[in-house]
This record gives sequence, C-alpha cells and structure tokens, in this order.
Amino acid sequence: MTPKRRILIVGGGTAGWLTAAYLAKALKLAERPHLEVTLLESPDISSVGVGEGTFPTIRTTLQYLGIDESAFIRATSATLKQGIRFVDWAHAPDGRRQHSFFHPFEAPFFAEDLNLVPYWLLQDPAARAPFAEAMTLQARVAAAHRAPRRAGEAPYTAPLNYAYHFDAIKLARLLAERAAQLGVQHVQGTVSAVTLDDQGVIGHIDTDRAQRFEADLYIDCSGFRAELIGRALGSPFTSARGQLFADRALACKVPLGDEAVMESCTIATAHEAGWLWEIGLNGARGVGCVYSSSHVSDERAAEILHRYCGAGHEDLPLRSIPFAPGYREQQWVKNCVAVGLSAGFLEPLEATGLVLIEAAVGMIAEMLPHSGPMHAPARRFNELMTARFENIINFLKLHYCLSQRPEPFWRDNADPATIPERLAGLLEEWRLRPPGRFDFVLDTETFAFFNYQYILYGMGFATDLSAGRDDFPRADEAAKVFAKIQRYADRAVADLPAHRALIQQINAGR
Ligand SMILES: Cc1cc2nc3c(=O)[nH]c(=O)nc-3n(C[C@H](O)[C@H](O)[C@H](O)COP(=O)(O)OP(=O)(O)OC[C@H]3O[C@@H](n4cnc5c(N)ncnc54)[C@H](O)[C@@H]3O)c2cc1C
Repeated sequence: MTPKRRILIVGGGTAGWLTAAYLAKALKLAERPHLEVTLLESPDISSVGVGEGTFPTIRTTLQYLGIDESAFIRATSATLKQGIRFVDWAHAPDGRRQHSFFHPFEAPFFAEDLNLVPYWLLQDPAARAPFAEAMTLQARVAAAHRAPRRAGEAPYTAPLNYAYHFDAIKLARLLAERAAQLGVQHVQGTVSAVTLDDQGVIGHIDTDRAQRFEADLYIDCSGFRAELIGRALGSPFTSARGQLFADRALACKVPLGDEAVMESCTIATAHEAGWLWEIGLNGARGVGCVYSSSHVSDERAAEILHRYCGAGHEDLPLRSIPFAPGYREQQWVKNCVAVGLSAGFLEPLEATGLVLIEAAVGMIAEMLPHSGPMHAPARRFNELMTARFENIINFLKLHYCLSQRPEPFWRDNADPATIPERLAGLLEEWRLRPPGRFDFVLDTETFAFFNYQYILYGMGFATDLSAGRDDFPRADEAAKVFAKIQRYADRAVADLPAHRALIQQINAGR
C-alpha cells in the first residue's frame, strides 16, 4: 500500500490558494486517498492582495483549474489587460510634451523569413512610428480602448494575447472554492510555534487554537511574514535594494464613473522617486504609488498619489505596504518550500508576483518526489527560482536605468554601479544589434527577447545598424509588411468591441 503523504500549506492569500488548487488538480487529489492537502490560514492576519495585474500565463492556469472564464471575470471584478503603457519614464514631463510608450503582450509581427526589427531600426527616428505601434496591432487596439477579444470567442482564447486586472482578495476566494471542490481541506488558525527536529527538519506546527499539524511537505505561503522559511528555518534573504530602490507602496481605490473609459492596459506613470500604477477594475480604478523611502518621504508620496487621483479624491484612504525588494536563494529547504511573497518580491512593475507563483507551483507539482526524501528537488528548484528572480531584476532595472529624468532617484538608477553586470554587458551588445532569442535561456526567463525590445526602443535606446546597412537589402518588402500591420490595426479597431462594453456584457451574463 502506498504510504500516506501529507502536504500542509500555510497561508490563504493568492499564493496559498493557487498552490492548493494547482496541486490538488495536478496530483489528482480526489482520486488518491493516500494524498492529503490541507491549507491553514490565519483569520487574524490579512493578506496583501490589492487590485492586481497579471501575465497571460494566468489564462492557462485558470483554464487548467477548470474555472469558467466569465465566472472568474464576474467574481473578481476583472477587466482585460493587453500590456502596460509607460508614461513619463524616458523624460520628465516638461509641460509641452508627455512621453509614453506601450509594452504589449503580443510578440512583434512575425513575417516569414523577414525580421522587421532591423528595418525599423534603420528608419529615420524622427519619422518612424513608435516601436510597438510599428510592430503589432495591439498597441493601437489598446490605445482605442478596444478589448482583445469578442464576446463570442471560445473561453480563454482571443485574436490578441491578454491577461487580466482583478481584485486579488476576490481571486483568493474563488480559488479557495475551487480548491475545496478538488479535495483540499481548509483549517483556520494562526501558527504559534514551528518545531524542528534535531536535523533541522520541520517536525510539526502548532496554532493558537491548540491544533497540531504534521506533514511530509510544508509549503510556506505566509506572505512577507515568512513564518516557516524565514522565521523558523532562517533561510537568508538576498536584498535587491542595490539595483531596485522602491521599497514602499501606497494603494487606494478610486470609484469609476459609468461613462468613464475603461482602459485595457495598466498605466504606469513615473514620478520623481518611483512610479504610479493605475489598473481598471469593474467599477473602480486601483491606483498605487510605488516609491523609494530613501528618495522621498511618505507624506510626499501620499501627495503625489492624491494629485494623480485628481480633484475630489484628496480624502481617499491610503493603505501603506512596505516591502523589501529581494528573494531567498534557498526557497526549498529540507521539507519546506516557499511560494509567493515568503519566497521573495521585487516590486509590482511588470506584475511578476503571480507569474512567479505559477512558475513555482508548476515546478513543485512536476518535481514532487513520489518516494524518498522530500528535499530531493531542492537544489534544482532553488537554482531555477534564483535564476528567475535575477533575470526579473535585470528586466525591471532596464526600465529605470535608461531614463533621462533628472531627479536623484533616476540619476541613482542610471549609476553604472547599480546596474547588474549581465544587463550592463547586454546593453553594450545591444548598441550594435537588437536583443535576440539566444540572449536568454527560456526556462529561467519570465520575459523574452521581444519584451526587452519593447522596453529598449520604447525608452529611446539606440541600436546603431547603420554600418551594416547593406546587410538589410529588403527595405521595400519590410515597408509593405509595416503597412499591412497598420491595415490590420485599422480593421481590428473597427471590429473589436469597446473594452467597457465587453466587460458589461460578461457581467450581465450574456
Ligand atoms: C504593492 C504590491 C502590489 C502588487 N501588485 C502585483 C501585481 O500587480 N501583480 C502581481 O502578479 N503581483 C502583485 N503583487 C504581488 C502579489 O500581491 C503577491 O505575489 C500575491 O498576492 C501572493 O501573496 P501571498 O499569498 O504570498 O501573501 P499574502 O497575500 O500576504 O497572504 C499571506 C497569507 O498567510 C497567512 N498567514 C500569515 N501569517 C500566518 C500565520 N502565522 N499563521 C497562519 N497563516 C498566516 C495570512 O493570513 C494570509 O492568508 C503585489 C504586491 C505588492 C506588495
């Protein structure tokens, strides 16, 4: 008979419930009586969950879990996200112009045997279309507040790649329901003691309600408190503060009027010492100010946020969320693995929180030993997660270090001493060639070479191909493809529904 195996998940935020539901599904919990998955959640400690943006991978995850897309959109006040519009990142606004660029989810248009990027780079910078607009129709679709899909489309599919904005607390509730259907047990209680045996392995966990839990694998989803991986096991924290300076966020919700436009992208607006996020939820805008406490006071950050929210919103209550950018290199230690904020968090730019949870839980499900010691996958898991975090640090830093803004926060960000060596090396190479697929090892990346292209060329980075101009003799063909992309964009803007109309239709159950 197969011996009983128990998994205890501590924490009921998005990380805890996503992990619970995913493992229950992947391990076919309902059909395996020898497996037990329990989620322990404190009723007294709140989770971080704000209005959040995600990555397209969430569609595959939700579909895998058997969650109906329309039900998900209704339950979590979700809207559709086609990418991020960056405002004022390259230059500070000077009254006459406001610089912005779009980072879409769609990859650049792929023309058989013809890479368009060099041809865009060789065009006159003063006359050419912005990179994202030239390369994909999604930039114009999002700018026109259109949805990436029509109402009749099969669930989770669309002509254009997309993700969602949603209320993370509501998502955790929905995932909890699904996890229960898949056989996960739910217990309330706050961890009061974690007992290690003489090998430093977690022996059992006690709660304030006098419950005791013993498990083969403990999954720490207790958020920034990191009850198991940090407090009990002392897994060291690697700070990223030397590269990424933001360490605080202020968050609020602004009611959305019935007539207001509903954006189908996140808006990330730079300010003197960080940036502001704005995401459209159904019925509200989630707005937040991310900043470096070394460069600006909490009072000034609140002022920046209130000013952004506009007149009449000066009294909106703000929630303060301090965080330490960084991660643990040892996220799997003996019989404990950390998922979510307990494993690490860099900052919300590019919405990498949930995608890292998806990556971790996918690996746990695949690598979980069927027999033998629970720590067997630890080394590989830790290597892969470390690489992911380091690569995300590079990608986030790219947004900051290319800015021409004059404020101390931005000048410090451009200081070469704060730019990771690998990124600095790539930037050097990209002066003479665009990012390509062999720059990255895909299994440890969250972002592909074209994501780097969107940020680089959106920020005004120059890749100079002029010395090799003769290597690119197909400019006429490329011009035809560029024109075709614009025709497709015209058609898409005309054919796709307004984002607000689609969300209303889904919420009305049509
Ligand atoms: C300002 C900000 C903005 C963000 N924006 C985004 C975004 O746009 N997109 C994105 O993908 N990610 C974003 N994230 C990250 C995202 O919020 C998290 O990755 C995600 O919500 C997972 O959080 P979590 O479940 O690990 O932690 P939490 O949400 O903090 O949940 C922790 C859980 O552990 C429980 N717990 C804690 N201590 C104990 C204890 N002693 N005993 C029992 N239970 C305990 C709590 O009750 C809670 O249920 C953002 C994060 C921050 C801080």
